[in-house]
Amino acid sequence: MEGVRNYDAIVIGAGFSGLYAVYSLREAGFSVRALEKADGVGGTWYWNRYPGARCDVQSIEYSYSFSKEIQEEWEWTELMPAQPEIEAYLNFVADRLDLRKDIELSTRVTAMTFDESSNTWFIETDRGQNFVARWVIAGTGCLSEPLEPDLPGLDTFKGVQLFTNRFPKEGFDFTGHRVGVIGTGSSGVQCIPIIAEAADHLYVFQRSAAYSRPANNRPLRPGELEGVKANYEELRIKQRNAFAGLVSFGAVSFEGLKPPERRILETPIEERMKVLDELGWSAPAAWADVMFDLEANRAGTELYGELIRRVVKDPDVAESLVPHYPMGCKRQILDTGYFETFNRDNVTLVDLRKEPIERITANSVDTIRSSYELDVLVLATGFDAMTGALNRIDIRGRDGRTLRDVWTTEGPVSYLGLQVAGFPNLFTVTGPGSPSVLSNMVVSIEQHVEWITDCLVFLREHGLNTIEAEPDAQAAWVEHAASLVEGTIRNSEGCNSWYLGANVPGKKRIHMPYTGGLPAYRRKCDEVAATGYSGFSLS
Ligand code: FAD
Ligand code: NAP
Repeated sequence: MEGVRNYDAIVIGAGFSGLYAVYSLREAGFSVRALEKADGVGGTWYWNRYPGARCDVQSIEYSYSFSKEIQEEWEWTELMPAQPEIEAYLNFVADRLDLRKDIELSTRVTAMTFDESSNTWFIETDRGQNFVARWVIAGTGCLSEPLEPDLPGLDTFKGVQLFTNRFPKEGFDFTGHRVGVIGTGSSGVQCIPIIAEAADHLYVFQRSAAYSRPANNRPLRPGELEGVKANYEELRIKQRNAFAGLVSFGAVSFEGLKPPERRILETPIEERMKVLDELGWSAPAAWADVMFDLEANRAGTELYGELIRRVVKDPDVAESLVPHYPMGCKRQILDTGYFETFNRDNVTLVDLRKEPIERITANSVDTIRSSYELDVLVLATGFDAMTGALNRIDIRGRDGRTLRDVWTTEGPVSYLGLQVAGFPNLFTVTGPGSPSVLSNMVVSIEQHVEWITDCLVFLREHGLNTIEAEPDAQAAWVEHAASLVEGTIRNSEGCNSWYLGANVPGKKRIHMPYTGGLPAYRRKCDEVAATGYSGFSLS
């Protein structure tokens, strides 16, 4: 067909996944083209430019380990890097590895059809381009498809409307404005303290309170980075062997930490308070039973409430800030001055559990109780996570069946989070069913990209041109993953996390990320590869 370009592999996306996939496949001798809808590289760190956007994994760990040169040359400045620094890092990587020549920006993949006669994918873009490739590597991101919130009248708002997950490149000056923020997940919690400093008045519209604790971020000390670089491989090995691909979370190191032994339900209240004084924000989870027993979990939340009451002066506001759902059900948030923000005179917490939003008008957010007049509305309302970006592409596999149809009817099934039965030669980097968002994502991304590259080299060496997840292997993996979540806090009553797809109306309730940890998962993937890709049919 005229105008069709042929490559061994098409990579979708140019974030951490896409950039590494381009490099890795190119190094292995495949012809490769990446297609990215943004006009720059960086993925998450290109789109999420809201004030306060920051990683909560330490920079030295949230970075590629595959290139000694990059590791050596790049200079991190903070313990937990902010969005501009990570975006600059990924641009540095793209230049240093000369990746740009293989990436087409401002190019959205709209459709992909598997041709069963040639065992190749036919790929279409919004620029009218057509590609044919044997392999497609979807680095489309777990948190890349913004969720359009179902708020009546949102389109009638005449003030400035900003989404955290597609924040304008030129930024926005909140000075002197009446601002509303809807959403108090990680993004809301990060931007609220900074917007509060500039705004004339800030209204925080909270539906679910956040489990957040201080990040204790700081600049790296002189010599600190050099110390890490002198022995980087040791840290990288520890990361790869760690349950969540990290040695520390925020400023807290897990090294030498033993799992707690004491039980909160067996501890008198006065003693719990002593632990609180000793451990501060680490106290609520410092018990063996809190993450496994709902009653113990509620006691942990009580301690958490006490910590909030110690910071927030207005008792009613403090009470509203205490979550009503189980601790550990959603992602732990790290913040900088979040709870302190509610002591400011120019900040009002609007508790949507007490006064739900009725509608949004041209100049206000109206709840059943009051009308809040606004100049600017910030939506920190999250993502259609893990499946959203792929579902927006019309992906047709065997017999013309769409991936969207499979994931809508069966839930987000996959084999190892790497492939879906019926969609040969399509790999999903950090797909549902893999540890992905429950880990340091860079470690998981590297593991997937390396597994996929090795797999394609194996197929080439054996003269094979098709690999496809077997339905039975997929069903067994889905069942195994579900069995790990069954009866845990993550799937408990009252837990409505985006991990479960609960934030998207109509999405099947299945815990999407794999909870068994990276080491076990990596072992399974390695075993599958070592046994000639068991669970996949090759032809
Ligand atoms: P992304 O970075 O999401 O990149 C996917 C790319 O694919 C995007 O650029 C998108 O435009 C493109 N794309 C999607 N669909 C198409 C299409 N149809 N056609 C063309 N291009 C397409 N993880 C951590 O481990 N630690 C953290 O502290 C952390 N902080 C985060 C903070 C924020 C604000 C967010 C949103 C996520 C955070 N994450 C964090 C998760 C983060 O998404 C990953 O760490 C990582 O950046 C994902 O890289 P990726 O390349 O897989 O996906
Ligand atoms: P999120 O966690 O899904 O939070 C969305 C928020 O918007 C929730 O408080 C939600 O309330 C609220 N909301 C959604 N629709 C609403 C509506 N119609 N009315 C009122 N409130 C509504 O999204 P996010 O904050 O963007 O974070 C998503 C993920 O990205 C995080 O969990 C994390 O993995 C990653 N992230 C990480 C960092 C970091 O620190 N490293 C920063 C940002 C993001 P309900 O909870 O009641 O639904």
